[in-house]
Amino acid sequence: MNINGHTKIIGFFGSTYQTSKMYALYNSAMQSLDLNYLYVPFAVDDLQRAVEGVRHLGIAAIGITIPYKVAIMSYLDELDPTAQRIGAVNVVINRDKRLIGYNTDGSGALQALQEATSLAGKTVCLLGAGGAARAIAFALSDVGCPLTILNRTPSAAQALANAIGPDVAWGDYSALPATLAPTTIIINTTPVGMLGSGQETASLVPSELLQPSMVVMDIVTNPHETPLLQAACQRGCTLVYGQRMLLWQGVHKFALYTGVEPPLAVMAAAMGG
Ligand code: NAP
Repeated sequence: MNINGHTKIIGFFGSTYQTSKMYALYNSAMQSLDLNYLYVPFAVDDLQRAVEGVRHLGIAAIGITIPYKVAIMSYLDELDPTAQRIGAVNVVINRDKRLIGYNTDGSGALQALQEATSLAGKTVCLLGAGGAARAIAFALSDVGCPLTILNRTPSAAQALANAIGPDVAWGDYSALPATLAPTTIIINTTPVGMLGSGQETASLVPSELLQPSMVVMDIVTNPHETPLLQAACQRGCTLVYGQRMLLWQGVHKFALYTGVEPPLAVMAAAMGG
């Protein structure tokens, strides 16, 4: 790595800035293409001032995660239409001091799904109605996938369904048996099953409801195989791991950061496969 007066800095704002595994992913990708960029963590204590720092220090871009994905929007100059619709930003690009927000969560999830299955003739049952669910729901609706949104708090599922369109069904988890069909793609977007969630051994889907023809995706990345995916594996379903969404949303971020075709093999290897 040759840091010099032309090196462009890409920073990361988020509560996971000390534990994120994405530094190796982006820096190895940039080095593999001989790009003069460096991807580094920032410890943010005042978001508004940090954003001004991005503008005035000529920082090229910022990756954003919780707790800043929504809060940062009010400090930006422009939102890409996808980020605007989702109501959250996970990338900020500095174009000549004009800060523009984007969101790659939906496109990343969609690509992870499409590398495992065709969406033709499938319906999706989305579990959860939080920020990630919102990004994924809009992306699925854009490609014409019939959608049901189920959530612990049904009013949040209803609000998300209404934001997307009149054909989107919604409910709570008691609607699961009636929602699932052999052609259903199930996507868990809740932290249930995640390490540190207090629900490490739980799954929202009783395993007897899983059928071999179903596709089951869990966007939780830690552990790699959640209890939902373990049950889906035992039942012979097609699996989609949260790591693949993480990879693809990162690949799409890389394209925004650099304007260059992402080196997919390098990025996949940096993520461990
Ligand atoms: P969020 O906005 O806080 O939404 C959380 C959702 O999970 C809500 O629908 C909430 O339901 C539901 N939920 C929380 N605890 C639950 C429980 N005990 N039982 C049932 N439902 C529960 O969070 P988010 O930003 O969408 O993130 C959700 C998960 O996705 C996290 O694990 C995050 O790490 C993961 N994620 C992964 C990627 C990736 O690239 N793989 C990207 C983004 C996020 P209520 O409305 O009822 O509270």
